[in-house]
Amino acid sequence: MSGKKSETASLQGYLIRGIPVIKEGDDLASIVRSLFELQDGDVLCLASTAVAKAEGRTRDLNDYSPGPRAQKIASPLGKDPRFVQAVLDEAKDTLLDDPFLLVTTSFGHTCVNAGIDQSNVASGRILLLPKNPVASAEAIRERLGRDCAVIITDTCGRPFRCGVAGLAVGWAGVAALRDWRGEKDLHGRSLEITLEAIVDEIASAANLLMGEAGDGTPAVVFRGLKYPRSGGTVFMPEEKDVIRPRLKS
Ligand code: GDP
Ligand code: MN
Ligand code: MN
Repeated sequence: MSGKKSETASLQGYLIRGIPVIKEGDDLASIVRSLFELQDGDVLCLASTAVAKAEGRTRDLNDYSPGPRAQKIASPLGKDPRFVQAVLDEAKDTLLDDPFLLVTTSFGHTCVNAGIDQSNVASGRILLLPKNPVASAEAIRERLGRDCAVIITDTCGRPFRCGVAGLAVGWAGVAALRDWRGEKDLHGRSLEITLEAIVDEIASAANLLMGEAGDGTPAVVFRGLKYPRSGGTVFMPEEKDVIRPRLKS
């Protein structure tokens, strides 16, 4: 560091404006391409809400008839039992049902309420996460006409911290984790365990630009990032030795 000339690290973030309200069947890749000139190496971040709407993942609460389990969970939470049934339908595992409903979705993402949104959708409607956001990211990436990475983001709570932040629920063309193991620290000691969740770090920055309310900006492009192209997942493995919260009952 001292005595060496600093290297310039330049990262640009572009918020794409002009995206319409997304409907089932919309082609997000072409919408983005019509509004923004992508370059190879860009990272395109898309809000899961936009991807899910394009995939027809909007539902009506009346589509759900809550079973006894949904009714039991809903009552102390003060939630609509139909909403709880929707969450249970998207979950492959329920980790907590009090003080909030924490589940692992069928595609492996652990989050509150299976990531089902009631904001930025019409009233009485709910929006499920994309069925398989990694596959969604891959399909969008293939249609971009450039060699770009795609990250699908969702605003999530984080364990043991207040406030929400953007996390990656799907990615393609970029490694989920950057592996620092074997690299040397300042004192020459090898790092042993550090796997950096780069897709979450990028998703958080994108989410910061997108906003949470009526901004209408579900797409952000980062240019100038150096990133590994493949490797790892941010979803927790199902091995028994991983510490996971559990339902009390
Ligand atoms: P989430 O974090 O994926 O749950 O998405 P949010 O509901 O927080 O929305 C993120 C951004 O996308 C906000 O700026 C929303 O206004 C915007 N957004 C959501 N849906 C649409 C849509 O259909 N069209 C447009 N143009 N923007 C949308
Ligand atoms: Mn969401
Ligand atoms: Mn959000």
